[in-house]
Amino acid sequence: MSAMRMTGPVCGCAECVEHGVANEPQRRVPADAHFGKSRLIHGRELAAWLKAKEQTFAQLRQAIGPRGRRGQMERLVVNLVDEVSL
Ligand SMILES: [Zn+2]
Repeated sequence: MSAMRMTGPVCGCAECVEHGVANEPQRRVPADAHFGKSRLIHGRELAAWLKAKEQTFAQLRQAIGPRGRRGQMERLVVNLVDEVSL
């Protein structure tokens, strides 16, 4: 995994405010077919990313079991997923 930081500074522009992410740090996403290099997302894209992450965490939590029961495994998985772009 590269040492590239996965988050950027808080943006807080009008679009970020509109999508409820005015206090969230921007998130780095990998290069794709449309954008040739990795970039920081904000606003609508950041809101969608955070929602997807939340849903993934919820699914993971369900799969892992109740909080604390396997605390160490849970931390490992959550940390790993946090470093992977969804
Ligand atoms: Zn913004």
